[in-house]
Amino acid sequence: MEALEVKNVSKTYGDNKAVDDVSFSIREGEMFSLLGPNGSGKTTLISMITNLIPMDAGEIKVFGETVDEKNLEARRNFGLVPQEIINHGFFTVNEILGFVSGYYGLYDNRERIDFLLENLGLTEHRHKLVSQLSGGMKRRLLIAKALVHRPKLILLDEPTAGVDIELRNSMWEFIRRLNKEEKLAVLLTTHYLEEAEELCDRVAIIRKGKLLKTGATKELVSELTLKQVILKLCKEVDLKSDFLTAKKDLEYTFQLPNHMHVGELLNSLQMDNSCIEDIIIREGKLEDAFLNVVSGENYGS
Ligand code: ADP
Ligand code: MG
Repeated sequence: MEALEVKNVSKTYGDNKAVDDVSFSIREGEMFSLLGPNGSGKTTLISMITNLIPMDAGEIKVFGETVDEKNLEARRNFGLVPQEIINHGFFTVNEILGFVSGYYGLYDNRERIDFLLENLGLTEHRHKLVSQLSGGMKRRLLIAKALVHRPKLILLDEPTAGVDIELRNSMWEFIRRLNKEEKLAVLLTTHYLEEAEELCDRVAIIRKGKLLKTGATKELVSELTLKQVILKLCKEVDLKSDFLTAKKDLEYTFQLPNHMHVGELLNSLQMDNSCIEDIIIREGKLEDAFLNVVSGENYGS
């Protein structure tokens, strides 16, 4: 069964199509990233998936359950980490996690709460008021809140914006662990493309409300980027190659399709290889693929 199915979903604000006929799905236990520039509709989409705002058209299902205000079953299956931090300053960390458990009818949820506190580094802060927490601790509390009821899908809307690298790493380590141990599916939006590339099996790229591209992360990178090969030679050589894109002093830069082997390039150059002092290879990155998609009109869906 799909963890999430988004079918032909649209949302218009005035004459601004914030989300324009978007469809995609996330498999059970899959880590999926929704990427797009600011204002491309990511938060609007997440707000419709979590039933915080109504959609104008389309259908959304979470583990087969249609998302609407009457269907509480759909709600049990996901947890949301919102982009904006909401401040419940008058309650302690422990109290908040207790309240949220109560919403789901879980009145004896101590074990789960302790597990989350421990793994999110909040145990020693559990008696603090939210107003006494640092920004990073508030983020972790939001993650704990989203996970108290053991959802099978977590929606993380820019969870690492402004979070330092150490905290980011420990957060991801924990999410990965839940992904393995509890088959937690993940929908992530992030500005850090390395993060999406490292974590997510598949990605979707959205711009101005339109989904431009969806696919396996590796395949998108391979399809939409070139491999850069730089040869450092010991002397000037007159090289003829369609792949040669730049030459600076004795450094010759080639751009190859990702499927092409470096050996193929070297063979085609028919040069004396003993003159090669160094070979530098730069594989394409998700960031390059992303820029390629959002900048050009040439890549339709
Ligand atoms: P993202 O999360 O990708 O940065 P958003 O979903 O927040 O983008 O916004 C998508 C578009 O919808 C933007 O043009 C934004 O200005 C507009 N928008 C979002 N929320 C509202 C709202 N409540 N009223 C009017 N316009 C909105
Ligand atoms: Mg947003």
